[in-house]
This record gives sequence, C-alpha cells and structure tokens, in this order.
Amino acid sequence: MCKVISICNQKGGVPKTTTTVNLGVGLVREGKKVLVIDADPQGNLSQSLGIMNPDELDVALPDIMEQIIMDKDVTEGIVQHEEGIDLMPCNINLSGVNVSLVNAMSREFVLKTYVESMREFYDYILIDCMPSLGMITVNSLTAADSVLIPVQAAYLPVKGLEQLITTICRVKKHLNPSIRFEGILISMLNARTNYAKDIMELINEYYGDSVPIFESKIPFSVKASEISAAGVSIFSLDKKHPVAKAYEELTKEVIAHE
Ligand code: ADP
Ligand code: MG
Repeated sequence: MCKVISICNQKGGVPKTTTTVNLGVGLVREGKKVLVIDADPQGNLSQSLGIMNPDELDVALPDIMEQIIMDKDVTEGIVQHEEGIDLMPCNINLSGVNVSLVNAMSREFVLKTYVESMREFYDYILIDCMPSLGMITVNSLTAADSVLIPVQAAYLPVKGLEQLITTICRVKKHLNPSIRFEGILISMLNARTNYAKDIMELINEYYGDSVPIFESKIPFSVKASEISAAGVSIFSLDKKHPVAKAYEELTKEVIAHE
C-alpha cells in the first residue's frame, strides 16, 4: 500500500522543501521505497537533491502534466538520488502549466493521474508544494491521501494557517473526500525562547482537535540551512545532529500512522 503525502503551506520558508528531503530520506533509511515530487516552479527540491539547473532538464513534472492534459503517453523522467530516494524534478515551466490547466478537462486531477500511475512502485510519495494555494497546489491536495503542514514556531505563521485549512476542507468537500491531516509540524524552533508550548496551545485554540500536531519538533539550526546547498539530506551531513534526530523521530511518527 502506497501513501501519498502532500507537504503544503502557502507561506514560503516554513520549511516544506527541507521537510520533504529529510522525511523522504528518513523513510528510505527505514527501508521504504520513496518518490518525492517537486511541485514548485522554483525547483528548490530538485536543487536540494543535486540538480543544479532544473530549467535545463529534458523531462520534468511540467512536461508530464502537459502530456496528461493532451492525452499523450507519459515519458519517464524520474531521477535517482545517491541516498536511495527517487525524484520527479520540476522547473520554471510549471508556471506555464498553471495557465494550460485553466482550460483543461478535469483540471484538478492532472497530477493525481500521474501519482496514481506511480503508486504501485512506492511505499510513500511526497509532494513538495509551491508557496501558493493556486491550481497546482489544489492538484497536489487532490492527489494526496494526507497533508503534512510544516509551520514556523511563531505567532503570525500559526494564525496564517486558517486560509490553508479552509482550502484543504474545500478540496475535501469537492475533490478528494478521503484526504486527511497527517499533522502540523512545528519547525525552526528556537530552544532559547522555547515557544513550543505556547505555539501548541495557540494551534489547539484556533484549530481544535481537528488537526493533529506531531510530537516531533524540528529545532532551528544554521546547519539545517546549509543542507539545501549540499545536495544531500541532513543524515548525510551529520546523522547525530539534533535536526537529523528530529527528522528521524518525525519519520517514525509518520510510519506509525500507517
Ligand atoms: P519552503 O520550501 O517552505 O520555502 P525551505 O525548506 O526551502 O522552505 O526552507 C527555507 C529556508 O530555511 C532554507 O534556506 C532552509 O535551508 C532553511 N531551513 C530549513 N530548516 C531549517 C531549520 N531547522 N533551521 C534553520 N533553517 C532552516
Ligand atoms: Mg520549497
């Protein structure tokens, strides 16, 4: 059985891409077969996994989505990373797909068509969303079994979740009745201010029990900000690092949800 998790928040820098890389590699380290899909025209996930110029790729997610829209056969385009994770990369052409989608039939289901064709090969498929709640993100939510919401441990980012949760509820009502909340992941937690408790209370106050919060919290760390440039996960960089430990704990929680 394959589980598809959309990693979503319309705010940038929360950190979606870092979580996709490290949860993805974390799952591989637990023996799972994992595909990560870059669904952001900025191609940050692709870059974080070593593809320095995603705009020069022959095949990336936008090509696949165009092929599905045009009812053509889908080409291979998956890239294998040294840490055992598979990547469907993305580039700037995804912005163009956004426009093609406006007139496409079943425009909310284009990414789902691709994801469904990949399910048989993987235990987990993680989709790294772009920082918007537009058509591409709606496609990602429509394709997913659950949504994982990374949020920065601070007051305003938590308040900003309202719009995201409303969008998820709309997708659930109209497009994907079986989507569930995987959980909110509190990240970039500063040990000195130790906001975690306040932030959790705030989340509970605003969103109640309807959205679970992961026990694991990701600490703020300058080292973590270096990994995107290194092209590898935090586990390759330093597997004893507190951020690596935190992502390992998160991985176990996600597996426990199976
Ligand atoms: P998003 O995909 O939501 O825009 P990113 O994952 O790209 O966010 O993260 C934004 C920035 O924050 C990146 O420069 C990243 O390296 C950095 N970052 C990620 N996790 C941490 C952390 N735990 N502590 C400090 N910086 C982090
Ligand atoms: Mg990103």
